[in-house]
Parts: sequence; structure tokens; C-alpha cells
Amino acid sequence: MIRENAWTKCDKKKINKVMEFCEEYRQFISQCKTERECAERSIELAKECGYVDLYDVIRKKQTLKAGDKVYASNMGKALVLFNIGTEPIENGMKILGAHIDSPRLDIKQNPLYQDEELVLLDTHYYGGIKKYQWTAIPLALHGVVVLTSGKKINVVIGEDMDDPVVGVSDLLIHLAAEQMDRKASKVVEGEALDILVGSMPMGSGKKKGDKEAGDEKEKSKAYILKLLQKKYGFAEEDFMSAELEAVPAGPARNMGIDNSMIMGYGQDDRVCAYTSLAAMLATENPEKTTVCLLVDKEEIGSVGATGMHSRFFENMVAELIDRLEGYNDLTLRRAMTNSVMLSSDVNAAYDPNYSSVYEKKNSSFFGRGIVFNKFTGSRGKSGSNDANAEYVAYVRAAMEMEGVAYQMAELGKVDAGGGGTIAYILANYGMNVMDCGVAVQNMHAPYEVTSKIDIYETMRGYMAFLK
Ligand code: MN
Ligand code: MN
Repeated sequence: MIRENAWTKCDKKKINKVMEFCEEYRQFISQCKTERECAERSIELAKECGYVDLYDVIRKKQTLKAGDKVYASNMGKALVLFNIGTEPIENGMKILGAHIDSPRLDIKQNPLYQDEELVLLDTHYYGGIKKYQWTAIPLALHGVVVLTSGKKINVVIGEDMDDPVVGVSDLLIHLAAEQMDRKASKVVEGEALDILVGSMPMGSGKKKGDKEAGDEKEKSKAYILKLLQKKYGFAEEDFMSAELEAVPAGPARNMGIDNSMIMGYGQDDRVCAYTSLAAMLATENPEKTTVCLLVDKEEIGSVGATGMHSRFFENMVAELIDRLEGYNDLTLRRAMTNSVMLSSDVNAAYDPNYSSVYEKKNSSFFGRGIVFNKFTGSRGKSGSNDANAEYVAYVRAAMEMEGVAYQMAELGKVDAGGGGTIAYILANYGMNVMDCGVAVQNMHAPYEVTSKIDIYETMRGYMAFLK
């Protein structure tokens, strides 16, 4: 059953709308490359649409009613938005969920060292990556350094065109005879992902005897530390309480001679996060309370206080009920169980270069709209949330009512591999959940590719679901 290509159904006016929306998305992923940056920008956008901080509502002992819009930040790395509906909350919510963390190289807590006159930062990669893909490309450093005083320093190095970038070296082909014989997982080892950040010894440009000529043993490292202190105000030991992420430098780009795609870092899963947020913010006066949940740590198992396994979401629903009608445990349980959710994450787009891992009838394709996965998982659906047929039909009906382009797919061939999402975690409350999202090529590579019409149709799909 071949689904029609959604571009062919567009008139000129719609293509303009697609391009306009995708330009806003391109800006978002160019500026927001960490979970903290995504959470912060999402809150700004929500505030512009009238959302207020749930914690302020609680502090001021205010009550909430239908039509009110609130958000709550989870440690600045995850967040939830509620648009309160006219129906009682115990009837359930309509939830959009996606994750805002992406694979990258994290800077270790004791990272800085000098080897000969070169200065490097040691890293520990985050999430599933092909390590060889992260060498010999321009990288930027994003994150925070927190001093023992509590002061938080925001760091972004390598994004402005005038800014220097950093990067991981690769072995020249001329000396790579042994390396080229290794299997791909060993071509570049985890400990070979150290980032080159400097090569100029302290005192360069000074005459002997000048102040600051430098008498340190490791002059190149000393110079880097001096610059970090001067420009950002932190010292070597402050790396211990830092979260610095090395990510591909520079903006996402339009792609294709026909301008139909976007190539950029971190589209898993910011393409679903941004479209979920856009649909959430565009929805007014819902009947059921609508929710947008943007979480951290999906790439390492949804663990930790800011991952989906955290009690944060349940606690915020409890707080919401308390502000609406007074807390009641049974109301909370009913609100969770009666909810419906679209758990959004990217899917593997069919790739002619690697057609052997796809089973075409059940693959997702660029241009065919939002992708639904009844199940994910691997080796016999293991680890999957397998959505009920009744619920799949309900979601299909919502898409068809609004004429949204959609396709139904699996990640790849049976036993070719697999992957997990946050769907099963919400399903633990007994609610109906289905996986869906945008088809992506090069998933987890430094630059991932998406189709603009799919991004637009996914946003429309979320709006149809919330309606
Ligand atoms: Mn993902
Ligand atoms: Mn992923």
C-alpha cells in the first residue's frame, strides 16, 4: 500500500507555508543544540503565547481554570506545558512527548591536558554514535560551568562565524594501513575522541623578561586556562562542576537542489520536539487538557531526574490537579489512565544507499508525511510499546479528518536492529500511547537529514491530534 507523496498535493501557497515553517525550525535547531538551550528557548516561545510558570502559581496559591496555560521546567533540562481544557482533568489529557537531548561528545570532569605543545579536552561520548563520524569536522562547545559560589556561566564557543571552532583529529590515510583493516566500531576508539583546543604557548609574542612571558611548565595549557579565566571567569578545577557538550559547529542548512530537505545536527529528536511545541502553542481552548512534554536523557535510557523515568511529569499533574480542584489521588490516577499520547521520535527514512536493511512495504519515506509506528523494539518487538489497534484507528481518524499526510512504518527489516523510545514509560500508567515522528536519514550522525514537507505535516498531525 503506497502512500501518496505529500508534495504533489501542495499548491504554491502551501509550499510557501511549508518553507516558512521550516525556516523557523531551521533557526531553532541552529540556535538550540543542547537540552538546556532547547528548554530555555521553548519556555521563551511559550511565554510569548501566554504560558505562565506553574511554580509561580503554586507559590502565590492561585487557582487554575479552563483556558489557563502553564509550564514547569525540570531543572532547566526538560519541561512540561499544560493548556487546561473545559473537560474535567480526570477524563484524561492529550499528550505530545518528545526528547530534546541528542548524541554528542561530553567533556570529562578532568579534561584538560597538554601533549607536546598541543592542548586537548578529554571526552566521553553521549548516546549511540559511530565514533569515526565525529572526527575532522568543526565542533562547537556548548554548556554551563557552575562555580562553588553557585554562579552559573553559560559557554558557547564556535557558533559565530568570527568564533574559532574546535575539533577531533583523524589519522591521515597515508599512515592508516592498520586502522583501515579494523572493524568500524574500532576504527576510532572512544578514548581517541579528545578535542584539540590550543597550540600556542603562554608568552608567545612577548620578549624574554616581559611580564606574562610565562614560566609555567605546560605553557600551552596555561595559556588556554588564562583565556578561559579572562573570557568566561572559570578555572581548571571548575570543569569538575561543568556540563560542556561538543556538537557540530554552525547552522543547519537547506538541502537539495530543490531546497526540499534540511541537513542539521540534533534533528533526533528536536524535529519532533519543535513540531510538538508549535502544535501545542497553536492550539486554543481545547476540550481535553493538552500537554507537551519535552524530556532529557532519552539517548541514554530515559534515566535520571530529567529523563522520562523521573516522577516529574506525574508530580506536575498532581500539582495541576491541586490548583484546579484540590489534590485527590484517584483524580490523578484517572487523569493519567484516561490520557492518550503520541510519543514522538524520529524514524529511519528509506535510503537507496542502504536499501538492504529496509523492508519497503513497511519503511518510512521522505515526502509521505508523519510516520506512525504501531510498535518499535527489536528481536521480536522486544522493549516495545505495541499500540492497541483501537487506538491506532482513533489516531488515523484524527489524521484523515484534517487531511494530514501520514504513513505507517517499522524502523527497518525484522532482526536488522531496532531502537527504543519513551512510549512504554507513559504506557505504564495504563494510557493509550503510539509512537510517531519524522523520517530521518543519517540518524545519530553529526548531520541528519529530514524532508520539509514531513516536518510540516507532522506539525499538522499533532494539531489534528490535539483538536
Ligand atoms: Mn530519538
Ligand atoms: Mn536517538
